[in-house]
Parts: sequence; structure tokens; C-alpha cells
Amino acid sequence: MGAAPQNPAPVSEAELERMRHSTAHLLAAAVAALWPEARFGVGPAIKFGFFYDIEVPVAIGPKELERIEQKMRELRKKKLSFERIELPIEDAIAEMERRGQRYKVELLTLLRDKGSTAVAKETGDESVVDGAGQSTVSFYKTGDFVDLCRGPHVSVTTEIGAFKLTTVAGAYWRGDERNPQLQRIYGLMFATQEELERHIQLLEEAKRRDHRRLGQELDLFTFSDLVGPGLPLFTPRGTLLRRLLEDFVQSLQEPLGYQRVQIPHITKNDLYKTSGHWDKFQEDLFHVRGKSGEEFCIKPMNCPHHTQIFACRQRSYRDLPIRLSEVTSVYRDELPGALQGLSRVRMITQDDAHVFCTPEQVQDEALRIYQIIDAFYRPFGMQLSIRLSLWDAEKPQKYLGTKEMWESAQEQLRSVLRTRGVTWIEEAGEAAFYGPKIDFTAKDALDRAWQLATIQLDFNLPERFDLKYIAEDGQPRRPVMLHRAVLGSVERFMSVLIEHYAGAFPTWLSPLQAVVVPIADRHNAYAQSIVEKLGSVPLRSGIGGGIRAEVDDSRESMQKKIRNAQLRKIPYMLVVGDREQAEGAAAVRLRSGTDLKALPLDAIIARLQAEIETRTDQPT
Ligand SMILES: [Zn+2]
Ligand SMILES: [Zn+2]
Repeated sequence: MGAAPQNPAPVSEAELERMRHSTAHLLAAAVAALWPEARFGVGPAIKFGFFYDIEVPVAIGPKELERIEQKMRELRKKKLSFERIELPIEDAIAEMERRGQRYKVELLTLLRDKGSTAVAKETGDESVVDGAGQSTVSFYKTGDFVDLCRGPHVSVTTEIGAFKLTTVAGAYWRGDERNPQLQRIYGLMFATQEELERHIQLLEEAKRRDHRRLGQELDLFTFSDLVGPGLPLFTPRGTLLRRLLEDFVQSLQEPLGYQRVQIPHITKNDLYKTSGHWDKFQEDLFHVRGKSGEEFCIKPMNCPHHTQIFACRQRSYRDLPIRLSEVTSVYRDELPGALQGLSRVRMITQDDAHVFCTPEQVQDEALRIYQIIDAFYRPFGMQLSIRLSLWDAEKPQKYLGTKEMWESAQEQLRSVLRTRGVTWIEEAGEAAFYGPKIDFTAKDALDRAWQLATIQLDFNLPERFDLKYIAEDGQPRRPVMLHRAVLGSVERFMSVLIEHYAGAFPTWLSPLQAVVVPIADRHNAYAQSIVEKLGSVPLRSGIGGGIRAEVDDSRESMQKKIRNAQLRKIPYMLVVGDREQAEGAAAVRLRSGTDLKALPLDAIIARLQAEIETRTDQPT
């Protein structure tokens, strides 16, 4: 997310980063003024703001944050300049020792002994260091506060934009739990007050929509301590939602020649040793030992398995393209601290597919995939932005495959985008070593960008697994492999959708689509007959058995029942009393509060059916 679009004077990302990093200095200067004995760790700019790790003799709470913020404003007003001072590294260490800044002494020693990359890697802050191997280091002085830093900064404090301190969290020094825990103070900074306020509003809205809370409230998924963190369990409603999404992708790809396959969830390690993933990812895998002592792992991806289906018989050019698809889970041993609801899990379900084709078929296959992705995202009203990652033509040695292969493949991908008449950005040097790719980023209702769908070319796995087909001239040739994802991961996509819709799914995706509300007990039988009638409506998707409805025959008042249905985000409420029963009708209310008045049952069914089958975004 960049600056708000309505801002007439956009500030570049680089400039914002400089301002945000300078605000971190201002924060440290304020802390130093309030607690002279404070010691400082690192203070980088981050997305939307900054943080600083500090050691102070008090626990920082809301009151202290307010005091610090107040002091920051005072200092900013003084129009202090950021003055650069250069010192030989040994003098710098001595100076920081004199000031009792033990963490800075550690950083400088690390810098002297191991170079700048070690510092950046260990602390996650690149701003403390200059290029490698230098014998002097730079400091920046702001008022009385001096900080080890390479810059750049704004020239005076008044150039810092609108900021706000937000939270405090514990952070182990250099990310190591054997080290002391410092207090990490977070803040936001934007060029203007309006942008800051808008961002705070979006954060509040995001909190209100948090999928972890809504997922519980709407009974979609749960976690169990016995099963373990990062391993979500999907309830009947959540499972239905998943099936609807998977079924949608399937309905788009099946007519385009994708065939379903199924693979085991564990494999001998040999598969990943052959694919080359072993060296890179063995630490992130769950390992399993068989009775015979054979070593297995739980699959972290499906691509190597799928190559073995391609390789199981001799393939001719006439068999290509072969398009294998599967909705299946992969497992990665993420650290518990990194897990988050459905967005970061240890079990990731992929709507995976792999296409094996000739080098000349890449364009046509990529176009088919594009078609699926475009059709899939349309009903969600999410705008897609597209990025084409290319190789770095200056450094062909970094990549697998010939110049001709790369240029032809890249040109074929470009021509897909041209054919679709879309705009895209190209990034040279961003491709993986094994092939160029197209990434799709979807923007949700809160303007947040999610990288979800992708089309990735692969020259590597066919080589690794020695995949072949017999070409027209009777000679064996290497196929190209395409990886593609539409949803990305089902779990992550669900987390995005829940927050995008704030739990109020469009009718086609709602686990319960209508609730029938009888006004009195004598209307219960009629209400029940409506549920049965809705349930027997034939739907093209065939999942969930017709229109999904239930009767609310609880003892509550009608008003309360309507209110409950709204809280459960059920799109349709059908209220039935004497008159409706006599006329074969129901009074229709939408969860938005719109009152459609009494409609004949047939009209209600036609309306719901059309809405579900066309996957209309929201009932109106
Ligand atoms: Zn700095
Ligand atoms: Zn793949």
C-alpha cells in the first residue's frame, strides 16, 4: 500500500522510508531525554512506520508512550538537524563504551569482526551499517542524541511527517532468546495527518474483521491444543466454504483440459534429493521414519510427485500438453511464533496444477491459466495487478537454460498479457533461476494487496527428473513445466475472503443462505416446507444440496430472530405468518436491512438461484 490516492503531492517510497527511519531516531532521542540511562538496540524503518528496541528501567505502557510521543513532538519543533560524524571504528567502540551503550558496542564489534552483512542479517536493520570492509563508521547527531547509523535521513526534524506511537512488544536482542529482552516501541508515520488517520482507521477496520475472531464466531474453523498450533480443523461450515471455492476452480479448469490426480502425502527423501529441494528445505520439513528404517518426509510441495506421473510412461508430442491438477495439503515445519490464524499455518492446502508442454506451447498454456485466474477473481470484485518477473540478461550464468529458451518464454508470457489487453509491470532480475513467472496481486476491500495467484515456468525440474517426450522428428526432447496456483493456498485465501467480506459472504459462498422465521408456532410446518423446497432446487454446482436454509423455531421474538440471523451474516431472512402462508409467499429481508416485502415463493427461489449460479457479489 502506498500513499493514499487522494493525496495531491505523492511522496516516494524511498523518501517515506527516510522519514520513517528518521522518526525512529526522534523516538530514541525522546527516550534518551526522558531516561538518560536508556540503552539502544536497533531502530529501522518498517512498512508504514518504524520501531526502536530499547532498554529502560521502566515498563513502557500507554502512559509512557504518551510521554515519549509528547517529547518527540517537542524535539521535532526544535528543528534539529541530522549531523553526520565519521569515526574510525576503534574510536567508535571506545566512544560507545564511554556512553554505556553496550548494544551499540556489540554491533560495532560484530561489524569490525564479521562485516556489515552479519549485522544486517542478525538484527534485521540494514540502516546501522555501511558497505562491507570499511574502517570508519558514521554516526548521526540529533540534538543531544548520537546514533550509529549509515543514514540517509531528513535534514531537519521538522521534515518528519505525521506520526503516532502504537504498541510495545518484547524483543530479544539480536533475535536470540538467550539475550536480554528489550522493549520494542512501534510507531506509524505518514507524510500527512490525513494519511495517518486513514491508515489508523483501516487498522481498526482490519481488527474488526480479523478472520481469527470471525472464523470462531461464524463456526468455520478451530484449533486444538491436542492437535497443535498451525494445524486448523475445519468445521462442516468451513469445509463447505472450502469445497465451494475448490469446486469453482475445478469448474473453470476442467473444460480447459485439466485432469485430476492424487498423490501420497509422504515420500522418500530421495524425491527431494533428486529435485534439489533437500539441500534448501530439509530444515523446514516434518520427517517420518518407517518401520524398515527408511526415511520419509511429509510433502512440502507437490511438483516433484507430479513429475513422476508424467514420467510413468513414454510421452509423445501428441500427448502434450498434459495438465495435472489436485487440491492437496502440504506441510511445513514453521516455528510456532510465526504462525497466525489461517494466514500462516503448518498445513497448507494448495489448488495445485502442473502443465507439461513443449517449449512452443507455453503461450497457449499460460493463456489458459490466465483465463482461469481472471474468471475466478471476477466475482470477488478484487482488482488484480500483474507483475512479470524476468531474468537478468546481464548475468545468464545465474540461470538455468539457454538465452533462446529464456527470451522465447518471456516473449510468450508477454504476448499472453498483450492478448488479454492488461497493463503489467516487468521486473528484470526478479525471476527464479529456473524460469520467468507472472504474479497476480489482489486488492481487498481494505485496499490491502495479497499475492495469491501465479504462473511459473520451470526449466529445472524436467532437467532434474530427466523428463522427456518424443518429438515429431522421433528425437527425445525436454518438456517445459508450468506451475500454477489460482487461490494460492486455500487457508490463506479463506483468511483473505473472511476479512474482505467481514464475514458477510455473498449468497453463493454463504454456508447458510436463508433462514426462515415463523411468526408463531402455527407457521412452523409451512416454514419447514419452504426449507425443504429450497433444499431441492437443483443447482449447477451441485454442492450443499440445493439452496441451504433452516427454520429458526426458537422461542425468541421475530425481531430477535432477525437480529440473530443478521449477526450470523445470513444473506436472506424469510418471514412467514398467516398471510404469507395463505398466499404461498414469504416476506423477504436482507441481512443489510433492506426489506423486499412479501414475494411469492417461486420468485424468491428464482432470485436466489440466479444469484448463486452467477456468483453475484452481494444481494441488493
Ligand atoms: Zn539513522
Ligand atoms: Zn509446483
